[in-house]
Amino acid sequence: MKKFLWGVMIYWCHITIQAQPLLFTEVVDGLFVFEGKIADVFDEKKGMVANVTFIIGSTSVAIIDTGSSYRQGLLIKQAIRQQTNLPIKYIINSHVHLDHIFGNQAFVIDKPQFISHHKYPAQLNAKGSYYLNRLNAPWYAGTQIIQPTRLIHQKTIINLGNRELVLMPLINAHTDHDLMVFDQKSATLIAGDIIFVNHCPVLDGSLIGWINLISQLQKIHISQIVPGHGPVSTKKMALMKIKHYLITLRAAVTTAIKNQINLATASKTLLLDHAQDWQLFDEFHQRNIITAYTELEWE
Ligand SMILES: [Zn+2]
Repeated sequence: MKKFLWGVMIYWCHITIQAQPLLFTEVVDGLFVFEGKIADVFDEKKGMVANVTFIIGSTSVAIIDTGSSYRQGLLIKQAIRQQTNLPIKYIINSHVHLDHIFGNQAFVIDKPQFISHHKYPAQLNAKGSYYLNRLNAPWYAGTQIIQPTRLIHQKTIINLGNRELVLMPLINAHTDHDLMVFDQKSATLIAGDIIFVNHCPVLDGSLIGWINLISQLQKIHISQIVPGHGPVSTKKMALMKIKHYLITLRAAVTTAIKNQINLATASKTLLLDHAQDWQLFDEFHQRNIITAYTELEWE
């Protein structure tokens, strides 16, 4: 009987810890995207809110962002293994936010290069432990901080075998250490949180830098964009709405500063009519005003 109960318990643990396989969609030949749920990472039991991309070449595989937990990393690997047995050679993290990096641990055993922007380690060291402490639900057990093994200072090409990816480190936009990836074969930009679709943008770097960058992207040939959050979109759709939000934010905050409206008032009153355009507006818009105000005050 004891043995039976023990067996039931093990089975029960197994089914509660095991999650459904992650649903990846093949957006173009050999490029697969998991679309995270649009939600605050701390409101979601499994924190799977950020998009994850993997790309298969003729000799290896690259992954861009790995989700928020060791377990999500394992699920990503499971999904990759349903498509290919090629080695996972590159794990690229678009920036340090916790919903994008904490599946890395699941790939240590594959000995890939862990690639990030050269300013990423400073941010990881500053925020990593704080993030881990907040991810304390059982789902996150086993999650660890993984340091990058290769830092990107300038435009760099990696080759997956007949498939080149351009790594583009940015100066200061959504954060000060964003790294975008461009798949030459399909002209797909994996933008990380440089692009938000439907999910309210989150400003953690420079508003002016971010607007300038989006203007530059408008001039480049891109057939589609994988955003950090929200569905894969055409270039036009992806850029238009976020640019409008950021430009309107800059104008409103600049006017508020000129009219000597203080930060507290500005943060509660500006651009509330944009609420219907974005999900999670209440969670992030006010913070965006504060970040923008602090930046533009010195302009
Ligand atoms: Zn994100």
